[in-house]
Amino acid sequence: MKNLGEFELIDSIRKEFPAPKGYTGIGDDCAIIPQREDMDTLISTDMLVEGSHFLLEDVDPYHLGWKSAAVNISDIAAMGGRPIASFLSIALPPQIDQTFMQEFMRGYGDLSAKFHTALLGGDTTSSNGQLCINVTVVGECPHGQAIRRSGAKPGDLICVVGAAGLGESAAGLKVILDGLDRQDSLNRTLVESHYKPLPMVRQALALRGFATSMMDISDGIGSDLRHILEESGVGARVRISDIPLSDRLQEFCARHSLDPVKLALEGGEDYGLLFTMPETKLGLAQDNLAIGPFSVIGRITEEKDLVWEGSEQDYCGFRHF
Ligand code: ADP
Ligand code: MG
Repeated sequence: MKNLGEFELIDSIRKEFPAPKGYTGIGDDCAIIPQREDMDTLISTDMLVEGSHFLLEDVDPYHLGWKSAAVNISDIAAMGGRPIASFLSIALPPQIDQTFMQEFMRGYGDLSAKFHTALLGGDTTSSNGQLCINVTVVGECPHGQAIRRSGAKPGDLICVVGAAGLGESAAGLKVILDGLDRQDSLNRTLVESHYKPLPMVRQALALRGFATSMMDISDGIGSDLRHILEESGVGARVRISDIPLSDRLQEFCARHSLDPVKLALEGGEDYGLLFTMPETKLGLAQDNLAIGPFSVIGRITEEKDLVWEGSEQDYCGFRHF
């Protein structure tokens, strides 16, 4: 990196991200996180690679920092956990300059501050190829209460929260990849959905005690739901007519002759929550303000197949390879 050496960069990050009281963060060989009795520690790690996850020519460094923190915090939320701390490792190619890193860290910091997640360490190296970002997030949850993918039971309702935006991130990605006009306010909003996801931490915490299984929607329901089914050893019937489609998504799809259902189910990077819940808890969950509005899209079945009621198509979702 030009203008700034490794240690200067780490020093500047350290100044902006002091460790909370009682914690040891950036500056020693290890971070120290005080442990709390009766709590389980949740740890998740995720990598973002230039070319695979973002285009360096297009991405605003503030958004890249924001998203790097968001997608990781979303994984903690997906288990019903509360995020505590993060670790940020970056491999920087020579064209990344000081201004880029300042903006990146500002985005990373703004998203982390929203969810009271402290940056406690990381690693910084040079790269002679792509920009590569790895984030590890540590969270916690009362002992035994994390919501796994494996808990779905036949008869449970299949629900999505944060579904207002289902498919919008994928539409935003299409705006980016096809070079569509960003002066247009709809296109601009969709690009924002793609670059600035908000992990649903509050909703996820409120779903403890309701959800029998849960995950965040990162590859699209068409792919993500299959993980819940496989881990739980069950099947599902999903009603296509109950998939929530936002006005924004419908308008975008009408303009470009796209199928909104396909985008909503296969798009990915929505970072809403997909969960299952016994029908007996539906009323209480609907009254719970912290969970907020959610949609019921189908039901878990004993037969192990996945049926899309009301469509001839199969929906698969995103795969890296
Ligand atoms: P070491 O040689 O022991 O790996 P480093 O010089 O890599 O130590 O890191 C010094 C301190 O700075 C450590 O606390 C490390 O966790 C932290 N650190 C390094 N890079 C980053 C980064 N990109 N973001 C946050 N903390 C970092
Ligand atoms: Mg190091």
